Amino acid sequence: MVRSLSQWTKTLSFPARISPNRNSKDCNVNVLPITPPPAPPRNKSTTSTSTSSTMSSSSSPSSSSSSPTPPPNVPITEISQIIYPDPESEKAIMGSLVFCIHHKQGCKWSDELRKLKAHLNTCKHDAIQCPNKCGSQIPRVMMTDHLAFTCILRRAICEFCNVEFTGIGLEEHAGTCSSEPIYCESKCGTRVLRGRMSIHRAKDCAKRLRRCPHCAREFSADTLAVHGATCPRSPVPCPQRCDAGPFARADLDAHLRDECKALTVPCTFKEAGCRFKGPRHLLEAHLETNTSAHLSLMVALSGRQGQQINMLKSAMAKLSTNYTGTLLWKISDWSVKMQEAKTKDGLELVSPPFYTSQYGYKLQASMFLNGNGPGEGTHVSVYIKVLPGEYDALLKWPFSHSVTFTLFEQGTLGSGGGGQGGVAESFVPDPSWENFQRPSTEPDALGFGFPRFVSHELLNRRPFVRDDTVFLRVKVDPSKIVAV
Ligand SMILES: [Zn+2]
Ligand SMILES: [Zn+2]
Ligand SMILES: [Zn+2]
Ligand SMILES: [Zn+2]
Ligand SMILES: [Zn+2]
Ligand SMILES: [Zn+2]
Ligand SMILES: [Zn+2]
Repeated sequence: MVRSLSQWTKTLSFPARISPNRNSKDCNVNVLPITPPPAPPRNKSTTSTSTSSTMSSSSSPSSSSSSPTPPPNVPITEISQIIYPDPESEKAIMGSLVFCIHHKQGCKWSDELRKLKAHLNTCKHDAIQCPNKCGSQIPRVMMTDHLAFTCILRRAICEFCNVEFTGIGLEEHAGTCSSEPIYCESKCGTRVLRGRMSIHRAKDCAKRLRRCPHCAREFSADTLAVHGATCPRSPVPCPQRCDAGPFARADLDAHLRDECKALTVPCTFKEAGCRFKGPRHLLEAHLETNTSAHLSLMVALSGRQGQQINMLKSAMAKLSTNYTGTLLWKISDWSVKMQEAKTKDGLELVSPPFYTSQYGYKLQASMFLNGNGPGEGTHVSVYIKVLPGEYDALLKWPFSHSVTFTLFEQGTLGSGGGGQGGVAESFVPDPSWENFQRPSTEPDALGFGFPRFVSHELLNRRPFVRDDTVFLRVKVDPSKIVAV
């Protein structure tokens, strides 16, 4: 490494103590000291401290008398002028103490200027040409790194395939080396050599897509087995080990329910009480050989059901029983019933039973359309009967509530007629009358009422019958002696 002295001196720096002596009258130099310090002891080590101590004394004025000086009053502006002013000066200059030009980079070297060149040949901060001739100038201290890592012409071996490259070649090779292990792109978590990735993804990768052979849906390879355990189309054998099958899992229930010959099934007449249970293929034989037994079971069943129906009926009747003490009896198909009454002697129409209150007397109205007794053939007769009721044992006897019958005229409301028209009759039972004693459970108890309640003639004249229907109200009132 060769440099001209002028090159060095441009970058020279000096220890502070040997900076140009501004007090010297002989010296105009403002760049370099013209007074060389006494040479440091040659045989001593030139540590900075010893140099400094030497130099501290070098600034004494006495030393200037023996030193060469440049011609007075000549400004020195060029380094060349001071490098070679004359042999004497040069000697002095070359003997001046300087720091290494790489002082700022951290080189601690300091010595006479003349030794600088030699130092720079070994200074670890001085840049030299890269031995690979890559064209870079690299400080010696960085060269090892440069050669190992950054020189584009360094020799470098790929750590994966062991092929040798130049530095720049290796950079191009990086990221493409087929021997480098890399993580699978499908995120299965496996590391595979780059060159084997396509084979891995096609054949080994747990995340590759695979089609279920039974239902044809796609699953990742690692979940296919789990799916297989529940796939509705995967074939499974009949759990009853019958001859049929295997069946698609989704069809198994239907097979067991409808077909499987090995499945144990109850007799068809189980609800009737047959206890038989056996494989389905034996059921037919059982049915054939037990026809009469099954029939008996069915008869018994229908008997039980009949009783249940009756219980339900009476429960229903109880729910619909009238406990208000007032019966509004609607008699439809009036003309047919009237015709019938005229042809059949003593034909009596009876109303639904009703109670005078929730725990009261049980009553029933009855009607002879063609009359009865004194009204026979000319009048409609109405009667009330006391029926055996559930609470008779707790009631007062004889029955003594007043009873009012009202036969309504229809369509007269709101016609300005001043209210509901009709025929009304009341009575208060006489305690001596047989009819109002506590009734026995015998049927056909006698009634009490009005044989000439309303004449056929009035019935036809006034609007009692509308839409072939007649309304009769029967009202029982315990508080009134006579009610109308
Ligand atoms: Zn140095
Ligand atoms: Zn290089
Ligand atoms: Zn490689
Ligand atoms: Zn993978
Ligand atoms: Zn499937
Ligand atoms: Zn089966
Ligand atoms: Zn059976």
